[in-house]
Amino acid sequence: MKRVIFLSLLFISGLGHAWTHMGSNTFGWKQKKLTFYVNPTHCTIPESELYQRIDNAIRAWNGIPNTDLEIVRSSVVATDGDVQFRAKTATQVPLILCSQQLSDYGSVDANAILGFVPYFDENGEGYVTYSGLVLNAQPGALAELSQLAPGEVELIIGHEIGHVLGLGHSGDADSLMYFQLNKDFLLVTQDDQDGISQLYPRNVLGGALGCASVHRTETKLPIGEAAAVLVFLICLFVFGRFVTSTEQPL
Ligand SMILES: [Zn+2]
Repeated sequence: MKRVIFLSLLFISGLGHAWTHMGSNTFGWKQKKLTFYVNPTHCTIPESELYQRIDNAIRAWNGIPNTDLEIVRSSVVATDGDVQFRAKTATQVPLILCSQQLSDYGSVDANAILGFVPYFDENGEGYVTYSGLVLNAQPGALAELSQLAPGEVELIIGHEIGHVLGLGHSGDADSLMYFQLNKDFLLVTQDDQDGISQLYPRNVLGGALGCASVHRTETKLPIGEAAAVLVFLICLFVFGRFVTSTEQPL
């Protein structure tokens, strides 16, 4: 029994990590403070509820140790919508919007897919430049936004935000980025955190050369004072010899 457990542990530790990159992406977005824009026009839940779900999903990705990444939701309602997003002329990216016709994005099963990330463009340096997520607002579809529990909506928005940030699917069944959504609540796990930390490493060095300045207390040798003492001792020695010589017994 003990041997089985031991071998299992060895196997697990051999996996290293389960998270993956999205596409060939290497660095995620260049800006470490990333603003998501939301266009609620076609969404089928009240705006205030939509924002609450998105904010909870965003909050789950913030505050991860060892990363500089900070995500915010723009307080300005996006004017870019479905048409601009598909034409890739949207400038308010990453963008979150709802679609009432998922087939506009290709063969997407509206009865199974609540949200998806249709675009993930990178530049030559390996940074993400264009992405966003589409939520299912197709009338009558089983996976339409208003048909799901609040926790499920947050879970899926959180998962899709993970893709937008640059994470692919994880092999860890507990991970938010697991390819099957097997929970009804949002939880960013250590595996998700490790992936984000690798894409957005925290810069602990800082400064133009990447190094912080070093504050050192200078320990000066008191050369001036030592010289003065030395001269004084020499004088004392010479004077002492002189005095001594004049005191020779008669
Ligand atoms: Zn996914």
